[in-house]
Amino acid sequence: MLETKMEIQCNRLDKSFELYKEEFEKKALQVLESGWYILGKELESFEKEFSKYLGAGYCAGVASGLDALKIAVYLLGIGAGDEVIVQGNTYIATVMGITDNGAVPVFVEPDEYYNINVQKIEEKITEKTKAIMVVHLYGQAADIIEIIKLAEKYNLKVIEDCAQAHGAEYCGKKVGTFGDIGCFSFYPTKNLGAFGDGGALVTNCKNLYEKAKIYRNYGSDKKYYNQITGLNSRLDEIQAGLLRVKLGYLDKLNGERQQIAERYLTGIINKNILLPKEKTGCGHVWHQFVIRIKKRREFMEYLESRGIHSMVHYPIPPHLSEAYRYLNIKKGMLPVTESYSEEVLSLPIYNGMTLEEQNYVINTINHYLN
Ligand SMILES: *Cc1c(COP(=O)(O)O)cnc(C)c1O
Repeated sequence: MLETKMEIQCNRLDKSFELYKEEFEKKALQVLESGWYILGKELESFEKEFSKYLGAGYCAGVASGLDALKIAVYLLGIGAGDEVIVQGNTYIATVMGITDNGAVPVFVEPDEYYNINVQKIEEKITEKTKAIMVVHLYGQAADIIEIIKLAEKYNLKVIEDCAQAHGAEYCGKKVGTFGDIGCFSFYPTKNLGAFGDGGALVTNCKNLYEKAKIYRNYGSDKKYYNQITGLNSRLDEIQAGLLRVKLGYLDKLNGERQQIAERYLTGIINKNILLPKEKTGCGHVWHQFVIRIKKRREFMEYLESRGIHSMVHYPIPPHLSEAYRYLNIKKGMLPVTESYSEEVLSLPIYNGMTLEEQNYVINTINHYLN
């Protein structure tokens, strides 16, 4: 028997605000009263704390995850005519980080963990290949050590898109610290989410770090002395301050997501559904809990009828989006990527999700008959 209907959103951002409301309010007020709002002490402290948390040498805050990716590609000297290898099934911003610099994305199919299939990379490397853009999708680390080995063999740069994987690990080391540059987004829905837009680059290279700080600020190190033409892409003091508060709880917040995922993995039993696979020895931070189901629309409608809201990440793979029609990659050329886009479904998972809500999702799914 099914319980009485509940209303469950796919995500609830108000809940994690409520958890640490007093600290957030105190910090916001403190910044507002300080009279200093851009490139100040909060940002400097956040950059230090975030790089320390990750075990990275340096961190530079920027205005968004997309900007972090764009700046990373630019700083590594990748531009017009260069090729960058990237998985087909990512959020389109990953690809824009490449194409905004005039470089060409070369898509590789994903593996069964939804990350880039390492076995398929080598065949895509050409004379023009300059880098591999690695996405740690849905919160799980890609096979980054294997990828680094390949990159060394072919003398390629490695950029990590960690927008969905704050705190995720591979063999005990945090993602974002393996490649030349790690890129993060602090968009509100991310595991380490701000209360507006934000992003950061992390690197162990002092030179890249210093260049990032110049590039994000009109190409200027010293006020009114501009060495290059740059951007206005900065992480403001309020966001940095609020992120400092949240960073203190990131492991706890990720732990809660892991608990929910564990309950789903053991509780959901339905032969129509393919559950996500967790790699052993990795700290998956469950940005999304993504299942696959053949008749997705019918299943989504069933969930909706029972008050459960789900989402698709992502319904249109970048190579089939209108923005990338010019790449001339036809439907059918990336069959795994395309089949994932037709079958993936993200179930509700968020900090502050009650046990009752989790059980309701599990029971409702287990009662689904096709
Ligand atoms: C969110 C996201 C981005 C873009 O970050 P923004 O801060 O929204 O610009 C890039 N890549 C991936 C994988 C993302 O999930």
